[in-house]
Amino acid sequence: MAERYDVIIIGSGAGGGTLAHTLADAEVSILLLERGNFLPRETQNWEPGAVFVDGRYISPDTWYDADGRAFQPQVHYFVGGATKLYGAALYRLRPQDFGELPHVDGISPAWPLAYDDFEPWYTEAEWLYQVHGNHGEDPTEGHWSRQYPHPAVSHEPRLQQLADDLRAGGYHPFHAPCGILLDEADRPRSTCIRCTWCDGYPCLVHAKSDAETIAVRPLLDRPNVTLLVDAEVTKLQTDASGHTVTRVDVTRAGHEESYESDIVVLSAGAANSAKVLLRSANDQHPNGLANGSDQVGRNYMFHNCKAVVALSKEPNDTTYQKTLGLNDFYLGAEDYDWPVGNIQMIGKSNAEAMKGEEPNLTKLAPHWSLAEVARHAVDFWLTTEDLPKPENRVTVDGEANVHLAYASTNDEEADRLYHELKKILNDVGMAEHHVLRKNFYMAMDIPIAGSAHQSGTCRFGTDPATSVLDTDCKAHELDNLYVVDTSFFPSIGAVNPGLTAMANALRVGAHLRERMK
Ligand SMILES: Cc1cc2nc3c(=O)[nH]c(=O)nc-3n(C[C@H](O)[C@H](O)[C@H](O)COP(=O)(O)OP(=O)(O)OC[C@H]3O[C@@H](n4cnc5c(N)ncnc54)[C@H](O)[C@@H]3O)c2cc1C
Repeated sequence: MAERYDVIIIGSGAGGGTLAHTLADAEVSILLLERGNFLPRETQNWEPGAVFVDGRYISPDTWYDADGRAFQPQVHYFVGGATKLYGAALYRLRPQDFGELPHVDGISPAWPLAYDDFEPWYTEAEWLYQVHGNHGEDPTEGHWSRQYPHPAVSHEPRLQQLADDLRAGGYHPFHAPCGILLDEADRPRSTCIRCTWCDGYPCLVHAKSDAETIAVRPLLDRPNVTLLVDAEVTKLQTDASGHTVTRVDVTRAGHEESYESDIVVLSAGAANSAKVLLRSANDQHPNGLANGSDQVGRNYMFHNCKAVVALSKEPNDTTYQKTLGLNDFYLGAEDYDWPVGNIQMIGKSNAEAMKGEEPNLTKLAPHWSLAEVARHAVDFWLTTEDLPKPENRVTVDGEANVHLAYASTNDEEADRLYHELKKILNDVGMAEHHVLRKNFYMAMDIPIAGSAHQSGTCRFGTDPATSVLDTDCKAHELDNLYVVDTSFFPSIGAVNPGLTAMANALRVGAHLRERMK
């Protein structure tokens, strides 16, 4: 007999970990199945060479592009999922992102729910993940019902100068929302040492608000929560009607096992959730589970991004650089009708990482060593919205390999955002700059390997013909199957997706608690 639970959650990242956290207080038994293990706390957590050059925490998967070329995707299989490596920039989508938004390459479709429906869950997620920020500074943000739980992380001097220069130039910089466990007013209570290792690195001192630290670890001694690691879900089995998932098949540390539950929630990340559903095809679901619409795996999005290293004449001795954001071009630019995107800072460059990523960077300042270039670097991250295209899709072959067909969208808008940044850099005396060919969000030779912001493969909606999930994120075609990772996004906007996945997991959690009463 397979062990039976009230709920099985597959994947412990932003979606699954947050859902487990919110369900744990309800008197239900929860099985959390995680393919990876705990990310080891070791000195390599903060070694640029180990993290960026050797890719120590990138999982050894092989995926294939549309031409059948193998590549290693930037995926992270750990308790906490991709959030173990994320930059913890925890942004809300803009209200306009929930509506239909025309772009140069097509329409960003409306969500079946509005910003107002998500607002209470965004607030709850900001409090759970202890976000530091200052609502009211960014002119493009939607309404907020409660201020962030912690004040914004202050800018270090070079960043404060940049903020002042931007404001003097007529721009509207704001303090970026950061998920770190830092209390600047009361140093002794702070865990975060405000170091340079937040973005793209695991946090050795567990001071980053990732899904393991915030959501999963606090549940480990709960009698109603069981976490199994090294447990990869391979298939979901249904009853003869095809309406109910009856069994979850797992390979755990090399052994085949099965578990049962009343409710099954898939949260394996956008590509892997599609993979599990496609592999679970049966007589009732010949194209894959929940895939009567043929939408499972389609509409894969991952943001159109660029990293830009600008050289400042004065040294930039900032350690924690992610404190500043700029949305002046989010919805358009002068004489340009299309949305353009978000500008934010990324983790501070250092010579060792640059050596791996861009050995030619000293060409920028030939009289400087790489260490000097890194010292003067001010690092920007540009994000433009990617559109859901049905032909951008995940499929699975007979050997269960993931194939990812993808062509970027909105390249013209991304170029326009870069153009706006160049103008800014001129205005603030940092005209010399370099676009990183490779960087830690796309640390591979093929851009599609940069799957950090993957989403869209099981979008939610009201029409079962064009969406996989209903507005509660339950599969239209099944009674007890839900999906709560970033697969549910009908569009991705131009800000980081993590907070929206967390907020949605809290929203779906409230629905499940009601359903299981
Ligand atoms: C380097 C990097 C930087 C980032 N920076 C930011 C940022 O600053 N802000 C932001 O908002 N977002 C950021 N992101 C993106 C953010 O981390 C993701 O959007 C978010 O984690 C997605 O949540 P998820 O639940 O969809 O997937 P994940 O968090 O990846 O969770 C999926 C989980 O499922 C597990 N899994 C996969 N397959 C199976 C299976 N078959 N069986 C069992 N378990 C399985 C995985 O191991 C993983 O733990 C970043 C990502 C990366 C990689």
